[in-house]
Formats: sequence, C-alpha cells, structure tokens
Amino acid sequence: MSKAFYDQSFRLGILGGGQLGRMFIQEAVNVNLSVHILDPDPNAPCKEIASSFTNGSLKDYDAVLAFGKDKDLVTIEIEHVNVDALEELEKRGVKVYPQPSALRIIQDKGLQKEFYAENNIPTPDFHLIASKADINQYRSEFPFMQKMRVGGYDGKGVTPLRNDQELNAAFDAPSVLEKFVDLDKELSVIVARTPSGKMTTFPVVELAFNPEANLVDFLFSPANISETIETRAREIAESVAEKLEIVGLLAVELFLDKSGEVLVNEIAPRPHNSGHQTIEGNYTSQFAQHMRSILDLPLGSTDITMPSIMVNVLGEKGFQGDVVAEGLEKCLSLPGVYIHLYGKKVTKPFRKMGHVTVTNPDLETAKSLAMQVKDTLKIKSK
Ligand code: ADP
Repeated sequence: MSKAFYDQSFRLGILGGGQLGRMFIQEAVNVNLSVHILDPDPNAPCKEIASSFTNGSLKDYDAVLAFGKDKDLVTIEIEHVNVDALEELEKRGVKVYPQPSALRIIQDKGLQKEFYAENNIPTPDFHLIASKADINQYRSEFPFMQKMRVGGYDGKGVTPLRNDQELNAAFDAPSVLEKFVDLDKELSVIVARTPSGKMTTFPVVELAFNPEANLVDFLFSPANISETIETRAREIAESVAEKLEIVGLLAVELFLDKSGEVLVNEIAPRPHNSGHQTIEGNYTSQFAQHMRSILDLPLGSTDITMPSIMVNVLGEKGFQGDVVAEGLEKCLSLPGVYIHLYGKKVTKPFRKMGHVTVTNPDLETAKSLAMQVKDTLKIKSK
C-alpha cells in the first residue's frame, strides 16, 4: 500500500513556485502536508514558505528528474514543464498528477484543438498552419484569431486577423487559426477529478478582461447566466476532464457566443486565476480541492457561501523595480475585502502581483467595493 499523506515522511513536490504554489501551500499546512518546490527563480513566491526549495529549470530533463525522484507525488502549477522527465518518474513509481499524457496535449494549442474535435467537444472552428504563408489559402474565411501552438500565455502569442492589413502582425510560427467568435461572455469552470474518476465542478464564473493588458480585470462569482447555460458549461467541463482522464484540477475557459452556444476556448490542468475567489467565497477552495483530488481524498462541497468578485492586482504602468504597495490600509478598512499579495520582489507593468477578493451578499455592493479597491491599491516601485 502506498504511503498516506499524513505520514510524516510523505513528500509532495510541485513544479513551479509562483502564486499558485504559494496558495496551495497555505492550504496544505492546515493538514500538516509538507510541500517541496522546484522553480527557476531564486526569489519565487514559494521560496520562504516551502518545506524545501530547489532552484532549477522546469524544462530541463535532469533537473525535473532529480527533483522528483525522492517524492511520493509530483504535481505542477504551470504546464510548461519537461514531460519526458515526468514520464520517467511515473515509470519509477512516483505518482504524477496531472498525468504526463494530458500535459502533452495541453502544452500544444494545436493538439488541444484536435483533441476537442476528436471527442465532440464544442470549440470554435479552426485550421492548423505551419507558417505565416499558409494563411493565404484561408483569407476568404476572415476573421480569425491566430494562436501560436506553443509559447503563448496571458494573451501573448494571440493576435486577431480580421483583414489583409492585420496580416502584417501575423506570427510566422506553427499556429491555430481559429474562427473569431461573436462573444457574449467569457466564462470559466473548474473541475476536480480523483484517480477513481469522481468529479465535482465549481459554479460557473464570468470574466471581464482588461483590453490593454489582456488579463482578467474582474471576475464575478456566480456568473450572470441562465440555469441552462450554467448546466451546459458544467457538463462540457466535466466531459473534457473525463475524456482526458485527468487527475487533479482542470480549468476550462469557455466562450458564450451571442447565439447562446457554449464553446471551449482552452484548458489548464491546475489551479487557475479564475478560481481564486473560492478561498473566501466557496465552502472549499480550488487549492484545497486540488490537494484532495491528487491525494484521492473525499472532494469538498464547491457551493458558493457568498457572492464574490476577484480583482487582479497588476503592476502599475510606468513602474519597474522593488515593490511598494500603496493603499493597503484603506483597502483593509473595507468590509469583506481580502487582500492577497504574492510576495514578488520586483514589479513591472501588468505583472500579476496579487489579487483581492470582495465578498458581499449583494453582488452590486461587491462591485462598488471592488471598484474602490481597484482605484486605491497600487503596486509601484521605489
Ligand atoms: P491565452 O492562452 O494567452 O490566455 P486565449 O486563447 O485565452 O489566450 O485568448 C486570449 C483572449 O483573446 C481571450 O480571453 C478572448 O478574449 C480573446 N479570444 C481568443 N480566441 C478568440 C476567438 N476565437 N474569438 C474571439 N475572441 C477570442
């Protein structure tokens, strides 16, 4: 029988030591679970709170293998890691969740799209191209979103191609050419799945984006959608998790188009920016649920305890360097306002430096408090 997580010698390793790992550790310490971290940044947000911290590359075969080989279970907080090393660890008997097979698909937006198509999961229509020259044959089908198959994140590696002029901005790289969706709303559902296939979904949340930074500005929980759309979104998310046979969390980013159709945009096999509000707004947080699912423990209730709004705290424009947080005291004086700073030493414009969750029985009141927070809390530099 494998070792229980409450055995003092149980070792859990996470590839990546950013804010997601940091919030995971904050849950893990509540059940005496020790967490070991590998991260390329010597000052990563987990550095000071992990049981041990190893400085090394997540993409290097030897570094990942050396880190994982004395662990009982290895998980990730970022999907861009060396999958060959994780496969080798699996062969040697280390549990790896999410499984390397799922990571291979998710790392490549082209393989993700083919996976949706093969499994009848609704997603915007697409073509796969090898280089910019391939776009020519599809010009009659404009508008598209071009997405680089690998190497993009937070809106980087994504560009609209609506007409011939915009072709100048096209990437000359293997990409997905995805039909432009007439968006009503952007939604997200987080699923948790255990090794034996038990699943829960968190209620659907709604995202509003900052067009300049291409990052989430406000997240609303619950989403303002009909019961039919809520059910549909949760069913689609569960079917993706089931078909991938993934263990752990799966964040499913969705589009609701103007005709009421729900489509999968992309997925992430880990805790996600669209689940931070669960720490204060739901019975079980996404981090606790990830821990429960990878350890094969009973999953917690995902129900909302209080409506909430999450605001990302981004580095102010025009500031770069050692962090100075402005307006903390004023925000702490507001009711139901929970501040999370990620312990990053250095700020730069639009870097995710923290988030704030505002809970209130009335979502409109939460909205006006969230606006106050946004106008007050500023991350600048010395
Ligand atoms: P990333 O992986 O960098 O987050 P996404 O694929 O999620 O990139 O795209 C970033 C944003 O671009 C989305 O949140 C959405 O606002 C917009 N977008 C992406 N694909 C489409 C599409 N097919 N139609 C319309 N808007 C899109």
